[in-house]
Amino acid sequence: MLPRREATALDGRRVVDVAIIGAGFAGLAAARTISLLDPTVSVGLLEAGLIGDGPAGANSGFIIDLPHEVSSDGFGQEAAAKFRQSVLLQRSAVALATSIADELSLAKDIFDPCGRYSIAMSAEGDKHLDEYASLLTHMGEVHRRLDNADTAAVTGSKAFKTSLFTPGTAIIHPAAFVRAWADALRSKINVYERSPALSIERSGAAWLIKTPAGSLETGKIILANNGHAQSFGFFRRQLIHVFTYASLTHEFDPAELSGHRKWAATPALPMGTTVRRINTAGGDRILVRSRYSYNPDIAVTPGAISRAGKLHDKKFAHRFPGLRDVGMEYRWAGAMALTRNHVPAFGEVEDDIIAACGCNGLGASNSTASGIAAAELALGRDSDLLQIYRSMPAPTSIPPEPFTTIGARAQLAYREWRAGVE
Ligand SMILES: Cc1cc2nc3c(=O)[nH]c(=O)nc-3n(C[C@H](O)[C@H](O)[C@H](O)COP(=O)(O)OP(=O)(O)OC[C@H]3O[C@@H](n4cnc5c(N)ncnc54)[C@H](O)[C@@H]3O)c2cc1C
Repeated sequence: MLPRREATALDGRRVVDVAIIGAGFAGLAAARTISLLDPTVSVGLLEAGLIGDGPAGANSGFIIDLPHEVSSDGFGQEAAAKFRQSVLLQRSAVALATSIADELSLAKDIFDPCGRYSIAMSAEGDKHLDEYASLLTHMGEVHRRLDNADTAAVTGSKAFKTSLFTPGTAIIHPAAFVRAWADALRSKINVYERSPALSIERSGAAWLIKTPAGSLETGKIILANNGHAQSFGFFRRQLIHVFTYASLTHEFDPAELSGHRKWAATPALPMGTTVRRINTAGGDRILVRSRYSYNPDIAVTPGAISRAGKLHDKKFAHRFPGLRDVGMEYRWAGAMALTRNHVPAFGEVEDDIIAACGCNGLGASNSTASGIAAAELALGRDSDLLQIYRSMPAPTSIPPEPFTTIGARAQLAYREWRAGVE
């Protein structure tokens, strides 16, 4: 990991035109967009912890350009329009990430526009990939179907039944990428780390955000703190707090696994397992991401990480029996905020407070896009992207407790069961 000097915490009272709360994908995208659209606008970006330590730095690193699922209305006009909207939105994120990588000359191990495999382990997954490939053909999207032997030639594993390659996904080293991005922004805007926004209150015509050691007076606020937006009273009973889990192996000798030294695969069925092979100077590693849990208090226990780890070990052994002696070195979990009707928690929630929250899973793409749109809205600009966000309905309310907990846990269990070996 590249060495970095963390930004100072906010102290004293500062005045900015726009304050952004949260330095994940949404907050960083909003900050970058404002600094590009109007460099005269002063911006203060508040991050509660250290940039890269949160979900934006602890994910699997896929900036995905295509929607995952085949719509239930097949190839109908409405489904096609929705597909194109998602593509525009997700590709705006890939384009932004690509421009950052170009500007900063990021190495391939931090940003690589290498595409993604969708991998099937079962007959059901295989069927899903066939349907998805037909959809991509219908939509004119480039893709390649790989049989068992071709998939094994890439992954070094015969456990994967078939796969489908699409070239538009960018793969990042998430922590290194968001830190490099934030550090480059520091010449244009004020970035404050270890500076959680504790409260938002009116101060005459302005807003005042208080942190433990200081305050930001601002004309506008962009809320980019995902599920934590509810701690300021926004989107109460509209956000569903879900954690997902990952494990990363120790480094192993590349000769122990044939195939490409670097590839990245998402599961054929949405709730399945993501797998990545990463090559570093010291050897190769495999990342396994699987398991979802519903955590309404936005916190996870070491026990839950350990239980998910046992599942990862099983999935890893099934896929790579030849690497049975390579154990996991790191395990972690991270929060996501979903909504019941799968729309973002986006828009002006109060005068001059704009939300870019509710990542709904694919946050590397979706939150980046919503951060761009939130910045455009804050500056009074318009774009096709912002029009898409304006056309989306508000997140629907979730039922009162204990019904949400029971329902969410049952849904996750059912969908994980459906994903089966995937
Ligand atoms: C293990 C794992 C793997 C994943 N893999 C992928 C993947 O491959 N591709 C993908 O697209 N998505 C993936 N995701 C999901 C993705 O990481 C999230 O959707 C994404 O990070 C959401 O971005 P965001 O900017 O909306 O929110 P976050 O990344 O959560 O950023 C919000 C930031 O706000 C800060 N914050 C919160 N409260 C305050 C406050 N009061 N004051 C100041 N700051 C505050 C937090 O510290 C945090 O840094 C994965 C998630 C996990 C956990």
